[in-house]
Amino acid sequence: MAKEMAVAAGLGVLAFLGWSGVDIWPVVLLLALVGLVMAVAWYQHWLPRPGRRVEAARQLVTFDDIGGQATAKQELKEALQFLLHPDATERLGIRPLKGILLTGPPGTGKTLLAKAAASFTGSAFLAASGSEFVEMYAGVGAQRVRQLFAEARRLARREGRGSAIVFIDEIEVMAGKRGQHHSHLEYDQTLNQLLVEMDGMTVHDDVRLLVMAASNRADLLDPALLRPGRFDRVVRVDLPDWQGRLQILRLHTRNKPLAEDVDLERIARETFGFSGAHLESVCNEAAILAFREGAREICMEHLKNAVDKVLLGEKLDRTVQRQERERVAVHESGHAVIGERLQPGSVASVTIVPRGMALGFVRPAPEPDRWLKTDAELRAEIAVLLAGSAAERLILGEASTGAANDFEKAWELARQMVLAGLSSLGVVQAEALSPEALYRAVQEILSAETARVEALVERDRAQIWALSRRLLEEETVGGEAVRALVSPDVA
Ligand code: ATP
Repeated sequence: MAKEMAVAAGLGVLAFLGWSGVDIWPVVLLLALVGLVMAVAWYQHWLPRPGRRVEAARQLVTFDDIGGQATAKQELKEALQFLLHPDATERLGIRPLKGILLTGPPGTGKTLLAKAAASFTGSAFLAASGSEFVEMYAGVGAQRVRQLFAEARRLARREGRGSAIVFIDEIEVMAGKRGQHHSHLEYDQTLNQLLVEMDGMTVHDDVRLLVMAASNRADLLDPALLRPGRFDRVVRVDLPDWQGRLQILRLHTRNKPLAEDVDLERIARETFGFSGAHLESVCNEAAILAFREGAREICMEHLKNAVDKVLLGEKLDRTVQRQERERVAVHESGHAVIGERLQPGSVASVTIVPRGMALGFVRPAPEPDRWLKTDAELRAEIAVLLAGSAAERLILGEASTGAANDFEKAWELARQMVLAGLSSLGVVQAEALSPEALYRAVQEILSAETARVEALVERDRAQIWALSRRLLEEETVGGEAVRALVSPDVA
């Protein structure tokens, strides 16, 4: 308002001077020039860039165009029900879901999932990247956030849709923890504006908005963003296992002529650690190789060369050597088999597909919240944590650095046991306990559990080995299969 008044006053003064006979043309020309420069700057720089990505996003992507990611797709479809059935959610007084955060390594299909969510719900789709909101000038980022939301609403109305999805890629760039940047005022204002926009979204809006964001580094995000009422759902999008890779390869070769000898399953098995984007690149490179040779079809040799090219050329974030994979398989099998022995039904699945920082992972079966744990339960948890390294040591002959995180957790559990009076020290007072005494008591618990778990691993050596072979073959094995392996008649 103040700006408009200043402009009006300026024009008034100019008009008055002109009317009084003063030569105002140099001033008018100067102002026109300044205006022109500002307009160019505005169009190049300040105008909301997000709008440009509307066109690209209109290319329809459905969930069927995304290979693998079954869990992520399922979780997403469930979360999107409120956009599909707004009346039912409103009748029940359900607070609308405002934000979904997709986390996972680059190139795993987070953007595709957001686009598929838009076509699944018939929403307008507007995409932006976190870096588009980062500016040196205070307030510009916040203004862009406002424009993005306004543009999404306008777009939905123009397209006659009842809802819109705003997708923000690399959200950690604009929504990192507050107060940590040099120009933190600008960062904080941008993030605050995003929170304000999200808080302002209601069920009664004529256009229902949903914010979807993607990040490879969810740990950098400001906690305010993950509070209830903002990004309520976090959907993990992981690297695909071999079946996921096979589906992705099939999708990206749909439009390509394949020779008889092509065995996509073999390529899928050989491309451990590849993301969807890498696999898309493999298919494209293979087609280029075929084109260069003047071949009419893509053959197995083209695909194999393309795999090498992507591997060597792009250098994957994490390529795991065969030997290392074997070690991870034995380690995870140790956790899973001993886990089922000591806590039957505790394993949901075990995988050697890298996830986040982990090279392998045992997904625990969901269990009800527990507020109390007994001595035996805590000791079993410690034993399961130690089982990975014990399996490596006893089956492969030596342990590795891969167990450092397990040890840290086991140590923490043992420390809690000592402080809870569950060690040989009996009831203790934390402040009166010397660090040496605590250390010795923790050591005592860990040594006892190490001895127990070594005996268990010796006994289950065959089962652990069998599970590790199966993991190398299938990459992910379900809890049922692990239970079948350790069932009493097999033991
Ligand atoms: P980033 O974190 O780098 O933004 P992203 O996870 O958003 O990556 P996308 O942009 O969705 O990844 O994927 C990049 C390309 O990789 C897609 O255009 C597609 O060709 C291919 N791709 C990735 N994942 C899949 C998948 N699951 N199925 C089919 N294609 C995929």
